[in-house]
Amino acid sequence: MTASKPVVILGVFVADTAYRADRQPRMGETILGNSFKLGPGGKGSNQAVAAGKLGADITFLTRLGVDAFADMAKHTWSDAGVKSAVIDTPDSYTGAAYIFVEEGTGNNAIIVSPGAAMLISPADIEAHAALIESAGVFVTQLEQPIDSALRALEIARGAGVTTILNPAPAASLPDRIYTLCDYVTPNETEAEGLTGIKVSSVDDARRAADALLAKGVGAIIVTLGEKGALLHTKDRSEHVGAVSAGPVVETTGAGDAFNGGLAAALAKGVEPLEAVRFACAVAGISVTRPGTAPSMPTLQEVEALLA
Ligand code: ATP
Repeated sequence: MTASKPVVILGVFVADTAYRADRQPRMGETILGNSFKLGPGGKGSNQAVAAGKLGADITFLTRLGVDAFADMAKHTWSDAGVKSAVIDTPDSYTGAAYIFVEEGTGNNAIIVSPGAAMLISPADIEAHAALIESAGVFVTQLEQPIDSALRALEIARGAGVTTILNPAPAASLPDRIYTLCDYVTPNETEAEGLTGIKVSSVDDARRAADALLAKGVGAIIVTLGEKGALLHTKDRSEHVGAVSAGPVVETTGAGDAFNGGLAAALAKGVEPLEAVRFACAVAGISVTRPGTAPSMPTLQEVEALLA
């Protein structure tokens, strides 16, 4: 790959606080848990970490509180080589997720409080227009307010920056947003949510991708879990198989690994089909390791797998 153009990712960081216990407490009850784990999360932040570990020139744009979880976010990014454009928000707090995991079944129940990131506004985006315009690739998701994602995509598109929208979590979108995207990267559930077409096979994904193409997107990439991904444009429709890197340990964050890998490859000028293969390899390695941000591979690991 050649020298990387800058990547800018707009999104959310949350501190994942995961509790394992035999059951959930009833209202008014306190029980003892079996274990606790604290780790960095948030789709945008995970994607930035993935791109950073792959050696991309990456800047992450977000709001954080001024607190211990903000320090954790900044350490996570600096360890992964991610630069940050943080708007400090002392009157709010850094996002956090309460994750209850039921011992034995692995079932979970989650509360996400995005905190400061919910205050990211179109005015914040305009204040960082120069950063977005300087990018080769811009990426966002839907964890922060949609009007801010829309404004950022408008600015990126206006400057000729390659735009990627990872439409996660599933949400209904204004039609205008599609016309601003070079790539939209739903998983099967999100593709169904956006189109009403149930997606459980590659052919279903093609039908859903056609519906999204008709809304004005340049290319649709539907991620299909262990079935890999579909790259669909008006000229081509290519299914790329998943890349296996060993036994699967945890798939949480696979989509983030994929999107971070895709952005890193496109920023290096890799052509789209090859970039999808690269992203499948990045995600393929991440699922063989526990955790989300900590499971992201280095460029050397991905290149060794694809060699
Ligand atoms: P998550 O929400 O768990 O982060 P997602 O639903 O957004 O993931 P998926 O479509 O499940 O995203 O997976 C993204 C990519 O990860 C796939 O396109 C594939 O390349 C890779 N992947 C996922 N599961 C596996 C697996 N079991 N084996 C190999 N690769 C996988």
